[in-house]
Amino acid sequence: MKLKIPGVPQATPLRRYSPGQPLVEGPVLIGPPASNSLPLVGRVGEGVSKLLERANVSVFPSPLVGEGQGGGSSQRWAAILFDATGIVDVARLSALHAFIAPAFRYLRPSGRLLVFGTPPEDSSTSQQAAAQRALDGFIRSAGKEARLGSTANLLYVGQVAESSLESTLRFFLSGRSAYVSGQVLRLRPAEPVSTPDWNRPLTDRVAVVTGAARGIGAAISETLARDGAQVVVVDVPAQGAALAEVANRVDGTAFQVDITSKEAPVHLAGYLNERHGGADIFVHNAGITRDRSLVNMPADQWASVLDVNLGAQLRINEALLDQNVLHAGGRVICISSTSGIAGNRGQTNYAASKAGIIGMVQAMASEMAKREMTVNAIAPGFIETAMTRAMPLATREIGRRINSLNQGGLPVDVAEAVAWLGQPGTGGVNGQVVRVCGQSILGA
Ligand code: NAD
Repeated sequence: MKLKIPGVPQATPLRRYSPGQPLVEGPVLIGPPASNSLPLVGRVGEGVSKLLERANVSVFPSPLVGEGQGGGSSQRWAAILFDATGIVDVARLSALHAFIAPAFRYLRPSGRLLVFGTPPEDSSTSQQAAAQRALDGFIRSAGKEARLGSTANLLYVGQVAESSLESTLRFFLSGRSAYVSGQVLRLRPAEPVSTPDWNRPLTDRVAVVTGAARGIGAAISETLARDGAQVVVVDVPAQGAALAEVANRVDGTAFQVDITSKEAPVHLAGYLNERHGGADIFVHNAGITRDRSLVNMPADQWASVLDVNLGAQLRINEALLDQNVLHAGGRVICISSTSGIAGNRGQTNYAASKAGIIGMVQAMASEMAKREMTVNAIAPGFIETAMTRAMPLATREIGRRINSLNQGGLPVDVAEAVAWLGQPGTGGVNGQVVRVCGQSILGA
């Protein structure tokens, strides 16, 4: 039950994805225009326009003639895209302002601002690195100014990574990214993969989800199944009945195990190899909290949180790789938390475990890339689950509102990000952390 507080704005309902929905609902404005005063040759704008046209999206290279800047009040943009990959110095940043500023007020509710840059670390001059890094501050600020459920995100597209952009472009434009804003991601080259059906991009993939009996894990299982995956749901034996219900709902199979048990990694790996011929997607979602202030934290509560949330993931990953469970194109997706980025009072154990996940993901990325696999983390912010429903009223209400979208996210928002990272076409995203937090001020 959400509170209506006088004088506090009510949250805008977010446009969320359902299969068959158009990618965006309305026209897309894409810049910079060819007539820009300083030459600005980007690497991705043309390809993005073509992808959108193929997806039956109306693309406008510049504001509509005769309707004024930003397309006029009758023309509201479903998305504004800007190819900033060609910005090589600070002077050229003015093109970003000149194009987006007049159009931004004409974004539709749940609209999208998406800017493409060149990774600053790939720059050949400090001028270029500075200008490209400036995009980061720009997008995070625009996200905070966006209204009515709109989001702003930045994709740094490395050289030659342009051809692996489609699944990520579709994620950020569609309702799948409803609760993702203020994010800065890097896209690296990956083997191009064709996706015959964008409504079922996970067809023929075997996906495993731990902690799947309820909450976010159940939503992840449902979303992966909706997208075509065959899902193996995993949880502790004590949750057997709830787990069986989820398995039935997703037409998948249940595997009961306490992931911290000594034999869990070997049993899980053996089961996946024997029963399913391996796996394509492994989602480490199981997690627990045992909150106490540091001075009152007993050693067993410290240890159990670190072991469920982090130790078990490390041991299972080792078994998955040692026993060749994951096929080429494999995807490991680990659920972290904004607490692991920003820290949180009463959560030294939990935040340590969730920060550790980020360390693990970053350390594993290059080894995974050699095997043509990826590993990434998702850091949810405030998500409406049994866990957050149990919070004291005031803490809950604050948690919901300290983000740019002025509301809590839903389990499906985390699940959609998992499904995107699990796609065969998302091989260019590796070793990264995506926050699904409505641009919470925690961990910004
Ligand atoms: P939840 O408590 O509702 O579900 C967690 C599931 O993990 C349960 O079904 C539980 O039985 C299972 N689990 C716990 N220990 C296990 C073990 N040893 N072996 C196998 N399964 C085990 O939690 P949730 O809110 O759905 O959160 C899911 C994940 O998202 C967790 O990792 C959590 O830390 C993370 N997260 C949640 C939020 C939020 O707002 N709810 C925010 C940030 C991160």
